[in-house]
Amino acid sequence: MIDVHCHIDLLENSQEIIDEAKRRGMKAIIVSVADPEELGSAMALRNANKDFVYVCAGFHPNHVNDYDEDEIDEYIEQLRGSRFDIAGIGEIGLDYFWTKDDESRLKQKILFEKFIEFAIEIELPVVVHIRDAFDDALEVLARYKIPNVVLHCFSGSETHLKQALERGYYISFATNMYYTKKHPRLAALTPMKQMLLETDSPWLDPDTPNIPNEEKGKRNRPWNIEKSSEVIADVKKIKKEDVIQKAEENAKHVFRI
Ligand SMILES: [Zn+2]
Repeated sequence: MIDVHCHIDLLENSQEIIDEAKRRGMKAIIVSVADPEELGSAMALRNANKDFVYVCAGFHPNHVNDYDEDEIDEYIEQLRGSRFDIAGIGEIGLDYFWTKDDESRLKQKILFEKFIEFAIEIELPVVVHIRDAFDDALEVLARYKIPNVVLHCFSGSETHLKQALERGYYISFATNMYYTKKHPRLAALTPMKQMLLETDSPWLDPDTPNIPNEEKGKRNRPWNIEKSSEVIADVKKIKKEDVIQKAEENAKHVFRI
């Protein structure tokens, strides 16, 4: 099992969680850096677990007003310097759910493009966060030839899914599929060869459905992708083991791990 997207570096007991994940037979965990501030904690986990923890580093669209241009350029230089310890650029993308004003949305777009161009330059896949902004995000992505595109915690419509699949993108489903009707339906339409599994942990705990993330605490753990694989196996009428194995193969291929 490979969890391709989580934020467990933000937890105090992250090393314990990694040890537990290894005990449970997981193959790897990819930690996602959403804020330049988190690069240090993610890299520390990688350095302590080189053959198990991998890092994707990006810039979450909700942070566009937290950093100025120079700071972002500096961050990109830092990433260039850590190039060989980074498996992908992300999460990056557009979030119109939290960002309503046009100026900030435009800033999001400009930064999204900047990080895509950087990913192409250093030949890494991109991991994309999209919330209420699918048309715009897919339009931006279409303008580039990117090594591999992963749509993380996918929550688009069936039309968006179809578009993404036609372009060869990978669709990463998170553990929220355990308590929604929409996500299993989308997973049923996604061929296994383009599917990835993630938890987005510590958020999206499958055992505390329908409670807003903030109240839900930080209880999700990387091995809960097994629960998603049960749901997917069920809707696709295949074996859970086959879901896990194929998603794992895909993760190894996309992130070259
Ligand atoms: Zn995330």
